[in-house]
Amino acid sequence: MIKLNVAEIKRRLVGKKTFAYDLAPDELEITSADMDVVGTVRAEGCISNAGDVLLLEAELSAQVRRTCGRCLKEFTAVTKADVLEKFYPASAENIEKDAFVYDSDVVDITEPLRESLLLAEPIQALCKEDCKGLCPVCGADLNSGDCGCDRFSVDPRLAALKQFIKN
Ligand SMILES: [Zn+2]
Ligand SMILES: [Zn+2]
Repeated sequence: MIKLNVAEIKRRLVGKKTFAYDLAPDELEITSADMDVVGTVRAEGCISNAGDVLLLEAELSAQVRRTCGRCLKEFTAVTKADVLEKFYPASAENIEKDAFVYDSDVVDITEPLRESLLLAEPIQALCKEDCKGLCPVCGADLNSGDCGCDRFSVDPRLAALKQFIKN
């Protein structure tokens, strides 16, 4: 859990507190099933007093191990996320649904950081934009050269049907 003490900034109208952390994935409650983080997650940002709310602004970056959706190769890439969230005092009225609240001088920023990082992770990772993937015939990685298989001929059942129609 990552908690910020905001007692000081709550007292001043333009109060602002900056932070820079290297967080272990479990401090962000991220498991390797969520996201395979290599090392730590860098979190830099600030929390400021914006009058009726506290404003959290942060940039996250992490090295993440991924599996290419086309060639199944493992590779590591950087995932970056921007966080911009409001924290409402728990006593406030008309709090937006799903908004973050705080009720003391300590604000727990774990959840917004965690959510932003997980949302920034692509659903289908590719080792490179134009990854050629695997040959559907022999399974060779087509990025390392052509295997020579005939991947463009029609399905044998279709070929038989064509032959049948011709006759
Ligand atoms: Zn690939
Ligand atoms: Zn092949």
